Amino acid sequence: QTHEQLQQIRGNIRVLCRIRPSLSDAEEEKLATTIPMPGLIRLTKDRRTLDFEYNSCLGGGSTQEEVFEEISPLVMSFADGHNACIFAYGQTGSGKTFTMQGTRDCPGIAPRSLRLLFEQARRSAEAGSPRTIQVSMLEVYNEQVRDLLCSPEEGGETKYLDVCALGPHQLRPGVERVPGLSRRTVESAGEIEALIAEGTRNRATTATSMNEHSSRSHAVLSIRYADAEDVEAPAPVLHLVDLAGSERIAKSEVKGVHLREAQAINKSLSALGDVIASLQQRQQHIPYRNSKLTQLLQDSLSGNSKVMMVCNISPEESSASETASSLNFAKRAN
Ligand code: ADP
Ligand code: MG
Repeated sequence: QTHEQLQQIRGNIRVLCRIRPSLSDAEEEKLATTIPMPGLIRLTKDRRTLDFEYNSCLGGGSTQEEVFEEISPLVMSFADGHNACIFAYGQTGSGKTFTMQGTRDCPGIAPRSLRLLFEQARRSAEAGSPRTIQVSMLEVYNEQVRDLLCSPEEGGETKYLDVCALGPHQLRPGVERVPGLSRRTVESAGEIEALIAEGTRNRATTATSMNEHSSRSHAVLSIRYADAEDVEAPAPVLHLVDLAGSERIAKSEVKGVHLREAQAINKSLSALGDVIASLQQRQQHIPYRNSKLTQLLQDSLSGNSKVMMVCNISPEESSASETASSLNFAKRAN
């Protein structure tokens, strides 16, 4: 069976595996992960080699353009009315944020998706059906959901949002999955940078270290592609998710608040893995309810949605154990 045939039998989930370039200048540095042939990732661990096949594999030399070539069909099908979801999975430092957000000089999936959507919206307007693009940003930290486009009032308490747990087919069309979440209309792709910067600032307000915090929470950027003449009517949603770091934290190493963080991350990432595996097996019951993350993404993780999992990999030998666990997680989706 070809991949395309398998894709029809199995769910609508595709996996892209991206290896980060080595960040060290040392030529001697040993790399544990390679791509011996297209579509194959080879991991060398404890003198054994393990091979993993995915829909697509990109090595350390890959550009943001090449990544987006794999993503753009999903964004186009979102513009055609399908719910969709792209998430970056991997240990801290493997390149999730670089891939999803990128930098000013090397923009990632989020700014490129928005640019493509604005082009589509312009075409759609020319064809007589104008579109409005709206954006929300939230984070899930310790199983609590926080609006990132609504700065906490001076001295006020952080407001947490509820997520409606009804199944994707039980929720009445047009009813909000996360009631009260802010939505901003964006007029051009250029506006998104400032918006993401604002969300990132709000994310940092409660954290002592931004880097530590961002590796322990899930950030979700959601894009709505609405009918400009009836903005409140049900519209497809594209979620772009920068997941918390997947590294396992030894129980002996953490106590108190860090232990709670680690447990929350574990719970939500394994819930996500379970949802994806049941979708791929086309099971009747999809276990969305086991975490806030899967509850809020469920409309874009149902049978008819398009899902892309980007599995980010650190190539160094010192990361081989975490790499093995990331590759195994991704295998459940492939
Ligand atoms: P994560 O979000 O998974 O913790 P980051 O995206 O922050 O990881 O990446 C870690 C570091 O590696 C950052 O300094 C980032 O700029 C760099 N990096 C990641 N991926 C690439 C890449 N493909 N090319 C160049 N630099 C990268
Ligand atoms: Mg990050």
